[in-house]
Amino acid sequence: MDQVTTQKDTLIKRFAAQRISAYIHQKFGGFEQRQCSCLRNRKDLSLTIDLKKNPGSQYAYYSSLQTCGSIHSCPVCAAKITEYRKNEIQQIIDKTAEKYHYLITLTFPHYGTETCQESRRKFMDARRRLKNWNPVLDHPEFIPFRKILEHHKYDGSVTTVEVTHGVNGWHIHSHELFIFDEPVTDLRKFRADVFANWTKACIYSGIEIKKPLAFHRRAVQVDELHGDHIQRMTDYLTKIDAGNSWGMAAEMTKGSIKKQQQGNLTPFGMLLEILENKTNYKKYAGLFYEYCQTFKGKQAIRFSKGLKKKYGISEKTDEEIMEESDILASWYGFFEIGEWREIMRLKMRGFVLQNSNNEWNDLVDIINNEIIKRALRHDTKRKETLFASAG
Ligand SMILES: [Zn+2]
Repeated sequence: MDQVTTQKDTLIKRFAAQRISAYIHQKFGGFEQRQCSCLRNRKDLSLTIDLKKNPGSQYAYYSSLQTCGSIHSCPVCAAKITEYRKNEIQQIIDKTAEKYHYLITLTFPHYGTETCQESRRKFMDARRRLKNWNPVLDHPEFIPFRKILEHHKYDGSVTTVEVTHGVNGWHIHSHELFIFDEPVTDLRKFRADVFANWTKACIYSGIEIKKPLAFHRRAVQVDELHGDHIQRMTDYLTKIDAGNSWGMAAEMTKGSIKKQQQGNLTPFGMLLEILENKTNYKKYAGLFYEYCQTFKGKQAIRFSKGLKKKYGISEKTDEEIMEESDILASWYGFFEIGEWREIMRLKMRGFVLQNSNNEWNDLVDIINNEIIKRALRHDTKRKETLFASAG
């Protein structure tokens, strides 16, 4: 499959996964949740559903529909938000090209009996402690994390928190990009110093370390970034390579078998499992909803205080990114409300965008042909075209 085809499929899959998420939200928490109306209901009382194109973009987007802006629970909004954040990270990296960049990954042992909420609480508590230790009188070899940062003339950082679920329950880890004015000359010692801080933080946060050797090997990873690495890291932090969205990239390129071998699924990976096989609903719907409720309103990509301001990047919340003005966008076409209802009923929201690189009138033909094809496939009598007048 060529890359363009893969990207197109991704768009359809994103909408399909969003539909599953909306269904789960409706079942567990009721219809009024924003995920249920995202890219379905109109923003206002306008009589059409408008499609627009951003300058330089081949593909259209729905401009007059409500969006939920939830990076954790909505694969469609997540894609747009992560794309935007990725660009912000890139700008900061470009502006700090003369400085030194390191990626620190922190993780901790997790057990199947813990809820997502418990795991998150412990992890976030440990992260807070890590950054607040004071020197210890009898242990001058212990260098508090703050001192490590001071020593390297800390400029700022960008953090992402990632969650997966597997046989050992919820697994949470963070990746943090550090920008320093002074380079780390001894990476091994640097890692050992961070490790001492993290171990202490984990213990004080009530995290049980049953396998110290494994903990020693895995809990802290430090990568020095330069050149190509930085580009790869930006992709990694925002998980959006090859047009995929937050956490989906890995899940979508891996086959089912590999996923099971590895054992751990991202929350969006759970939605894809349900899409692949409805019997997975029982297994994953509750877990997915638990994750969404735990991380609701929590930032997925966090910039250290003042970092964006320092490099001239304005602050924008996830919701603001989704509500961005489309003043520069050009008008592409529209559906009337009845037509839009049919699009939704036929689960064609993604299909429409997937084919929006065509002229509007051609798109209408493509939609009509697809409807006929589906009608024939399902052997129904319905053969008339639905969108004869659209556009
Ligand atoms: Zn959404």
